[in-house]
Amino acid sequence: MITQVGPLISSDKITSKLIKKTVCAYCGVGCGITAEINETDRTVTVVGSDHPANFGRLCSKGSALSDTISLDERLLEPEINGQQVTWDQALNKVANGFSDIIKQHGPDAVAFYVSGQLLTEDYYVANKLMKGFIGSGNIDTNSRLCMSSSVVGHKRAFGADTVPGCYEDFEQAELITLVGSNTAWCHPVLFQRIKKYKEANPNVKVVVIDPRKTQTCDIADLHLPLDLGTDTWLFNGLLNALNQNKKINHTYVNEHCEGLDSAILAAEKSSGDIFELAEKLSVDERDLSTFFDWFSHTEKSVTLYSQGVNQSSSGTDKVNSIINCHLATGRIGKEGMGPFSMTGQPNAMGGREVGGLANTLAAHMDFDEDSIDRVKRYWDAPNIATKPGLMAVDMFNAIESGKIKAVWIMATNPVVSLPNANQVKRALEKCELVVVSDCIADTDTVRLANVKLPATGWSEKDGTVTNSERRISRQRGLLPNAGNAQHDWWIINEVAKRMGFEAGFSHANQAEIFREHAALSGFENSLKSTLKQSNRLRDFDISGLQNFSDKEYEDFAPIQWPVNTEHPEGLKRFFENGQFFTPNRKAKILALEPKLPINLPTHDYPLRLNTGRIRDQWHTMTRTALASKLNQHISEPFVEVNTKDAKQLKLNDGQLVNVNSKWGHMLGRLIINDNCKKGDIFAPMHWTQALSKNGRINTVVNPEVDTFSKQPESKHTPVNVSAYDAKWFGFALSREEISWPNCDYIVSAKGKEHNRLEIADYNTLEDPINTMINWLGFDNTHKIEQAGLELLTYQDESSRLFRVALIDNQGALQGLVMIAPNQHLPERTWLGMQFNKTSLDSRSRRALLSGYAPAGEDIGRIVCACFSVGEKTIEKAIKGGCENAAEVGAEIKAGTNCGSCVPEIKQIILRC
Ligand code: SF4
Repeated sequence: MITQVGPLISSDKITSKLIKKTVCAYCGVGCGITAEINETDRTVTVVGSDHPANFGRLCSKGSALSDTISLDERLLEPEINGQQVTWDQALNKVANGFSDIIKQHGPDAVAFYVSGQLLTEDYYVANKLMKGFIGSGNIDTNSRLCMSSSVVGHKRAFGADTVPGCYEDFEQAELITLVGSNTAWCHPVLFQRIKKYKEANPNVKVVVIDPRKTQTCDIADLHLPLDLGTDTWLFNGLLNALNQNKKINHTYVNEHCEGLDSAILAAEKSSGDIFELAEKLSVDERDLSTFFDWFSHTEKSVTLYSQGVNQSSSGTDKVNSIINCHLATGRIGKEGMGPFSMTGQPNAMGGREVGGLANTLAAHMDFDEDSIDRVKRYWDAPNIATKPGLMAVDMFNAIESGKIKAVWIMATNPVVSLPNANQVKRALEKCELVVVSDCIADTDTVRLANVKLPATGWSEKDGTVTNSERRISRQRGLLPNAGNAQHDWWIINEVAKRMGFEAGFSHANQAEIFREHAALSGFENSLKSTLKQSNRLRDFDISGLQNFSDKEYEDFAPIQWPVNTEHPEGLKRFFENGQFFTPNRKAKILALEPKLPINLPTHDYPLRLNTGRIRDQWHTMTRTALASKLNQHISEPFVEVNTKDAKQLKLNDGQLVNVNSKWGHMLGRLIINDNCKKGDIFAPMHWTQALSKNGRINTVVNPEVDTFSKQPESKHTPVNVSAYDAKWFGFALSREEISWPNCDYIVSAKGKEHNRLEIADYNTLEDPINTMINWLGFDNTHKIEQAGLELLTYQDESSRLFRVALIDNQGALQGLVMIAPNQHLPERTWLGMQFNKTSLDSRSRRALLSGYAPAGEDIGRIVCACFSVGEKTIEKAIKGGCENAAEVGAEIKAGTNCGSCVPEIKQIILRC
């Protein structure tokens, strides 16, 4: 157990171990971590800290952070065209390359594509360099894919990109509506907070609005599985119902809002009666009425929404349709009330604050004349950008067309994460100069870089991040920089200096950058005439931190912005005074005409693809896939298809299927269930080409974007699904790295003491045993003997079953391959565990090629990643008398750490 230290922490020596407080590297919940550091062997142990986002909890991903920091997969030296170079050579190459292109083609011929994984200080100097010194708006961030619709929705309604509330509101509400958010898997710690609160307050209602039945439905009193893309109809319908039920707060609206009448007219027009609306949404009319009734009669209502709302060609309207209902009822800026956008990434909010989106300038200022002039003066900027730059999808289109000739990609993997991902790959292949800064050596994007710049990783980076509730926290460097890796802010500053911009980029450390950023937020940020309680021009103001000493910066405790003279301790909620950031200080209720997704199903592409995240992986898996325990729950890219569609298409559970759209193709493992509605399919967004030959779902996803936010429509693409008629299926487990064989389906995953490949192909496997031996790295049996290994084989030619194992002279398993004519192969968990043994006992050795564990040893597929508890162990506990998830937890620990597997444990209980 790690000793907890007080709230304002730098570092301390406790029993010769260094303890530091930092934050998690993944989702927007922004959990705090207490890390115990062992510098000698570069290891770190993590537990949840007393941070106000998580109060000690961590989810499976956060808990496994210590397993992701080894140097094995790191990019440790700068490279130019595959050759290791010095930092000086690499920085000169980048600076000269960018300068030459700018000189020849102008500033808009270059671009930065950055990331919500960067720290605020990195983000700040990247934005300053592009918009203030290079003179182009061409810096955009992968947050474009995550919450740019919320940004625009906030600005349209509030006049600023302001998150009104805080996490505490969820624990004060009486109705919690979760829209387009699988909170249980995507923001697990927040889900656990809500769950605990609901358990203690059974009268609190939870409504889940999602086309898919997700794990989040586990705590739902009501699930509304609306049709993909129909959210604006739903919330227009709610506004209409609020009006009909006389639940509009006219006193509040008259004083603080405008636009209600036309919004209600538009809502009436799109809603029809409750039956028509229910039919439009494809939901039960009684359920719809129940939701409207609960919302109408529950003052303390919070509506939390996420990517299911944002990732749409009408995402901004969807956001405003939710905000409309809160403004019309005056349920905003008060305890337990408000719309709340959950951000995906750890520092998406920090990116918004510095101006990392191409359509914002800096510090929540836009490209208006006053702001351009103000920022120009503040930065003493020689070439201030005067218009927005190209946003993500358009940026990569411009790269492909040759308009942009040099791009610098920082801490992100667009070849996997952007829609129409093959086009992104083509664009980078054509681009004159591709610079990639990353901490990982082999990502789909790093593979295409002319210049590779090794950046520090989570355990080394030092700066600040902002979570979904506007809370700024310190991420603290735990370990010395790996190899020759450098912090992103340092790399950017060094390039800027070499481009001739020494004066603006001579910061000595990250604290100095933070002070400059904080001071800009407060620069000329007051209204000439003080309006009631608010005298600030802009919402983002952390000028109260601008004079922090290095020591204060090191020590500062998490705080919610704004932090200024009015709010020296930060602020939980904006808009308590009903004053917004529009010119007349009134919020805007918008008239919204709902729109369907741009590409609708057709005869050739009759199904609708929805994409999202899974529980134990993060983004493009470049870091989470390094933790073997996170690869156990779901190890392959999958496609979830409704039972009725599967029957119609004559598909079988576990087989491989092709997913095709007009844009591309993906191959994945089929899961048949009723989580998706008939007509919809779901696939995870995580798998890369580095980890799977054909598993990138974003090659399939259409590149349509929202008109206002330019956020891609990642939740709706017309596709077809067909069987992939593999002649054989197999898997290979090996202590050594396995070279990829020549077959269509390949997925690799790291196990504890082994590497795993899932493989299948359309062509008959010739000479199976020798081929399998070959996959394990041996040309023939003679070479195996020479290596002192024992070869075990099993073959049943008539059934086309083939198995080989290699065991060393100590009795330890070195490799294992199994091939069958169909997907019904032995479960991999027990087989993988045999690699953890220094020597196989006789029982295990006998059982090995049967594929079946000896009695009592088979734990089944892993369900609880935190404690590696398998499905069969859980079934055994249930059969032994455990009647609920709590009893299962008490008996075998499953579900007792992060709790993310509890919905699945409940499903197993139902099944048993
Ligand atoms: S919920 Fe999980 S992934 Fe998100 S910040 Fe917390 S520990 Fe990290």
